[in-house]
Formats: sequence, structure tokens, C-alpha cells
Amino acid sequence: MFGTQITEFYESRDSIAHIWGYRTPYAGEGQWPVRVDERALADADHWVQSACVFCSNGCGLDIGVSDGRMVAVRGRAHDRANRGRLGPKGLHGWEANMSPDRLTRPLIRTSSGLRETTWQEAMALLVERSQQVCGNGSALGMAFYVGGQLFLEEYYTLAVIALAGLGTPHLDSSVRLSTAAGAAALMESFGAEGQPGCYDDIDTTDAILHVGHNVAEQQTVLWARILDRRHGPRPPRLVVIDPRTTPTAREADVHLMPRPGTNVAVLNGLLHLIIQAGRVDHAFIDAHTTGFDRLKEVVARWPPSRTEEVSGVPEGKLRAAAEILGTAPTLVSTVLLGVYQAPQATAAAVQVNNLHLIRGLIGREGCGILQMSGQPAGANAHETGCAGTLPGFRNWANPAHVRELARLWKVDPIRIAAFGPPTPVVDILRYIEEGSIRMLWVIGTNPAVSLPDLTRVRRLLDQPGLFLVVEDAFMTETARHADLILPTALWGEKTGTFTSADRTVHISYTAVGPPGEARPDLDILLEYARRMDFRNRDGEPLIGWSDPEGAFEAWKACSAGRPCDYTGLSYARLGGGPGIRWPCTADFPAGKARLYTEGTFPTTAGDCESYGHDLLTGAAVTPAEYGLEDPGGRAFLKAADYVPPLEQPDDEYPLWLTTGRVVYHWLTRTKTARVKELNAAAPEAFVELSEQDAARYHVTDDQWVEVRSRRGRALARARVTHILPGLVFMPFHYGGGDPALGSRAANELTLYEWDPVCKEPWLKYGAVRIGRVREVRGIARLLRAVGRGLTLGSLAVWAARLLAKGGGRAHPELSAAPPDARAAAR
Ligand code: SF4
Repeated sequence: MFGTQITEFYESRDSIAHIWGYRTPYAGEGQWPVRVDERALADADHWVQSACVFCSNGCGLDIGVSDGRMVAVRGRAHDRANRGRLGPKGLHGWEANMSPDRLTRPLIRTSSGLRETTWQEAMALLVERSQQVCGNGSALGMAFYVGGQLFLEEYYTLAVIALAGLGTPHLDSSVRLSTAAGAAALMESFGAEGQPGCYDDIDTTDAILHVGHNVAEQQTVLWARILDRRHGPRPPRLVVIDPRTTPTAREADVHLMPRPGTNVAVLNGLLHLIIQAGRVDHAFIDAHTTGFDRLKEVVARWPPSRTEEVSGVPEGKLRAAAEILGTAPTLVSTVLLGVYQAPQATAAAVQVNNLHLIRGLIGREGCGILQMSGQPAGANAHETGCAGTLPGFRNWANPAHVRELARLWKVDPIRIAAFGPPTPVVDILRYIEEGSIRMLWVIGTNPAVSLPDLTRVRRLLDQPGLFLVVEDAFMTETARHADLILPTALWGEKTGTFTSADRTVHISYTAVGPPGEARPDLDILLEYARRMDFRNRDGEPLIGWSDPEGAFEAWKACSAGRPCDYTGLSYARLGGGPGIRWPCTADFPAGKARLYTEGTFPTTAGDCESYGHDLLTGAAVTPAEYGLEDPGGRAFLKAADYVPPLEQPDDEYPLWLTTGRVVYHWLTRTKTARVKELNAAAPEAFVELSEQDAARYHVTDDQWVEVRSRRGRALARARVTHILPGLVFMPFHYGGGDPALGSRAANELTLYEWDPVCKEPWLKYGAVRIGRVREVRGIARLLRAVGRGLTLGSLAVWAARLLAKGGGRAHPELSAAPPDARAAAR
């Protein structure tokens, strides 16, 4: 399947400093040279097939095992995602499995705190509390919130338990925080989820557009592929839209730096220039889309001068970007959190789809759209119905789709919780606050750090009357609030499959056993279903499988005939191979590289995963409305005008806040903070600000600063960079610190607002102010002195000392803080 290649082995001891490794230039599909990256702590007895479980790139790797312990990883040379390469998280992250603080026994909360217990007692309590909550015949008191790193088999089992076993629609995933907008954009434009293109498109494309996607740090191996194209013959042009000068942006031919919250304005400005110049494929538009006239009318309101006024992107740069995007014969576009976690997320992501549709750049080699999935198994959460739609990309508002599931599961359609859209986590929190949800089961995710407005989240997790179950491998910030903790196996300690952002399915086999009494999530879910005695209408167990392969076969039946059709896949076919893309069917036994090759989209009323929404208000299109204008297989060109966010910088909070990732950590650092090299490279949160703002607020590099918003406050050291003046950046990975004294968590600051279509929170947007910590601490001490009732004379002496010193002493906690991240990273 691949061309003749040179295979080189790369001993990746310096993978922390050189995160993309050396260059292997190339051009042409299938021509990316092999480079096998390996990291070993000891010689392996044998190797076990797997794939990296950190990001959605899905790099194939083998786990080296010696004496029942993981001792090494190496990239799989012929895997289609990475051709042997691994990034720093792939090479080092597995060491978290050996962390001495793994949870090994279930824990139950008592009046004196958490105590260890047996699985027998833990499962009995879980079932007892579930039955209490569902005692009135309704399961609406129960909710599930699951991470983006489970295996497909676990997600599907959970979906059947929640939707048909219990009958609750309160099932959501942390992918709601990362890529819900991408999924929604695919549904709004093409009728259903599924990436139109694949990573192979990088190999031949003439141009690449990254919108809000710092691929160099988020998906280091995909970036290595792009860099290798850029260093080879016929390099693709590169356009990057990002308010920060990231490593991705530094490589760009054209870098647009819009003000936060203005993505729709910039993308409308680009579409306007491309349409105005006549650089559109009218034949494709006429034959395969609907809505072009409306789109043309809306984007015409965005001439370069107005776009510059609103977004701050200079007219000349906008024109330079439009020139590349309007003339490239082929184009790959990728979109991620800079769009998805910002205001108007779905509307902006849809405009990237529109760019490809009006130019006819879809369904053929070199023309991929990657509305990126961030988490490694995020795609599976969507496919199986754990993240906002029904299993198999079925439409909850289509009774025929619900009946299909009912037939498959042998239950009455009324039993399936499809009386409304699956509940997004922002509404799950609201129902907890109102007291209608009384049991929350959190699996493999850490909302006490990752959700916005953490003060509120902590309060709700501790809310009297809520029974909180946490299933995790570590004592996370969320687990500390739990009533019941179930210890789980990690990747490498269980078998299952997961699907990367370009639809490639990988299998990951058990390499070693979990520590202590920790168990795979699938085992826990299966035992729960057994104890709850869920049955179908024939009186048989609702969950008819007892192991991962059985769950996979059940899922295949569920996916049959849907866009994500897995029926041609099997454990046997995935074993030993390079990963296989769905749809994989009798017609496409090797999987299909690209969707929509015939220009036909799953938009008919009977097919579509969603009837769509108004992009500005989020109002859902009704089945009747959709039926009146059934597009019959055409894609939608949906227009959206720019709407300014309500919270804007003002005198009190004069700066924009944005949040994001650093390359060495993943999500809330539950695993990466436990890996010595990764943590040493980035041990602490930081606040990035421009030279202009540093001068304005008298902040110097490395100085501790406080960032404060209307929601809360966080402390971190300053990092002065070339970021857009008026904007500050904090990585979102870090929890820790005492919220009362100074948390490191960026989400103390973020807004409890979300996109009206996909319900993804605005984690990358808010207004803040900054202050030097020494000054802040001095004032705080002064206020405490007032609280202690000191005399006015004493206060005068105190204030004089404070002024003479230029502030109070740094807080002891800060003095003891670990060294700066960059020193180690360098
Ligand atoms: S690019 Fe992603 S999947 Fe590949 S090794 Fe890095 S973290 Fe893992």
C-alpha cells in the first residue's frame, strides 16, 4: 500500500527538546517515508499492538513488555497515521501507568472521609443508589459524564445502558468541551458527522489552512507530516488564523491574527473576497449544494475594510490569504479549539466547510476538511451516542431512527430516551443545581478542572443530595468530591478499539494487567448492567455481550447502513494492520479514504443526523420545516453574520483572555503530570502577555501575576511574548493551588456561556485584568489587618511600610512554587 521507503530508527532520547524529530521530505500520496521512533527503559520480551491514546492523531505504536511490565514503546512503521513516528506524549506518556499513586481499590465516602472497600460493597452501593434515584419509574435523576479516552466498546455499552437500560438522556462526554462544534458543523453542512477527508490529503495538497488549530503542539506527528511536505518538492502554501504566534503560525506564509471572538468576521471576509473574484466552482455549487445566494448576500457585508475594523486583521493580509485560498487547485483545512471554544463556534466552523463547497474542493485527493476531533477516542463518543446524538449518527428527532435502535436492542421505542436531544453537560449542571439530577457518574474525565467557572462546578459537585460516582485511575480533583470511587484500568491494561480524527480505526490489546483491584471500564459497566438486571422485551439480558470483541460485534450491527458503517471490520482484520478507515463495508472492504466522492451528502430527511439549526440563535429546524425543503443529498451552504460577544473588555477588565494547550500536557494533566520528563518540561501554569501590556502593567518576564475575571482568579508567572496586545493566554491543563489563595486553573476565569448550536462553552474567551502578585498580596494583608481591627495609627504605619517596600511579601505558597516551565522546556 505504501511506496518504497527508507526505514530509519530514531532513538528519541531528545524527544522533549525536538518534538517533531528530524525531517524526511517527500511529495505524493503514500510517499511519506517511514521513521520509527522508539523509547525504551529496558529490553522488551515481546511487543503488543496498540495506538497512542493521547490525541486524536491516533499514531500506531507497539508496547514493549518485560516481566509483565511496560518497558518501551515504538511507532508502527506501516501505520497510516504516523508511519512510525511518535511525539513526546506518545513516547513518554505511558509511564503514567506505573505511577505509584494509581487507585487500586474502590473507595466509599463516610462521615470521616473516604475509606477503602470491596468491589462487592461498591457495586452494591452503586446499584442501590441507582434504584433509589430511579424509584419513581423515571431515570431523569441520573446523569453520566464521560471522557474522550475510553474505547469504542465501552462507549457503546454505556450508551445502551443509559438510553435503553435506564432511559435517561442525560449522557454527555467531555468532547462537548473540545470538538462539539466541529461535529455540529459537519451535521449543519453535510447532514451527518464524519470527516470528509483524511491525513493522506496532506501528501498531495497545494495549500493548507489551519483555523484556530495549533497543530504543531496539539498533533505533533501530523505537524511533522506537514513540515516534511513543506521541506519537499512542491511544498503546499500555508495560511494560519490564530491570535497567537504559535509554532504553527511561525511557519505560515500568511498568518492572520484576529481579535478573540471575531472568527466569523474574518472567515466571512475571506469568503467575500473569493466570491467577489469569481474563484468559485459554479458547476459544483449548482449540482451539489443549496444556499449559495444567501451566503453571497451575507458575506458581501464583509469587505476587507470592515473585516479589518472588527477583527483587527489588516486588509493586505486578508487579501494575501484569500489569494492562496481562492486559487489553490487543492486545499486541506483543519479546525480546532480556537474556533470551537470561541463565540459563534459552529457558525465559524461551518464557514470553513463553505469555503471548500464553493470551490468544489471536497471528495477528492488533496481536498480534505478536518473538523478535528481533539481527544483520542472523541470520535467514538460521537459515533456511539455518548456525545449529543443517538448511536450510529442517528437523529433523535426522526422516529424511524429511534425505531431502528428499538429493533436492534429489542425494546419498545418508547423506552429509548429520545424524547429530546441528549443533554449537554452545561444543562446537566443546571439540573444538578435545580435538584432534579441526584446521581452523577463521571467516567475518565476531570470536570473540576476542565469545565468553565470552577467555583460553581465545585459547589455543584458538593451539592447536598447529589451522589457523585467517579470512575478513574487516579485521585483527580473531581474524585476528591466523590461519594464512590471506582478504580479503573488504563490503556495498555485492557483491549479495545478507538478511532482517530480521520476515521481510522485501531485496535489496542492488553499488554499488562492493571494494578491491584483496578478493572477495565467495560467490566464495571457490564457488571452494573447485570446487577441492574436490564432486559429486552424477550426477557433476555439487554446487554448480550461479555467481552470487548462481543461489544465490538454488537456495535457493528448498530452501525450497519449508517455513515459510520463498521460492518467490514473485525478484531482479526485490525490485528497486525495499519488501521482501517470507516466506512468499511462489502463495497469498501479496505475502508474509504474520502467521503462524498460522488458529491452526494447524507442530507435527505430520512438519512440526516440532525435537521439543523439557525446558526445565530440555535433554534432547531423542525422535521416539518426540513421536510418542506429537503435538500435531497445536496450540502448546505449556511451563512452566518458576525455577532459581537456580550462580554467585552472594559475599564474594569480591560484584557481578553484566551486559553489553550502546551505540547507536553494533555487535558487536565491527570497522566502527563505523573510523567517525569513531561512534567519537568512544563511544570507550572503561565500567563502569556505582549510586551506592550507588560510595560503597561509594569510586569516583567517570570514575575508572578494574578489574573482576575468576573468569575474568579488565578495566579501564574508572566511570560512576555509577541501575542496580540490586549490579549493574555493561559494553558488550561493546570489545576492545583488553593482556590482561596490562588488557583493555577485558567477555568477559574472562564465564562459560563456556550455556543447556541453545539452547546460548547466559550473556554477561549473572557475579559480579565492582571496585577502583580506582590501588590495584590500587600493589599490583601492590609485588608486582613483592617479585619483584625487594628487602629488607624497602626494602619498608617503599615501603609507607609507597604509603599516603601513597593508591595507585600510574596505569599509563602508562591515562594515555594516549582521552577519556571520554560527553563526546563529549553
Ligand atoms: S501526535 Fe498524538 S497520537 Fe501521535 S504520538 Fe503524539 S499525542 Fe500520540
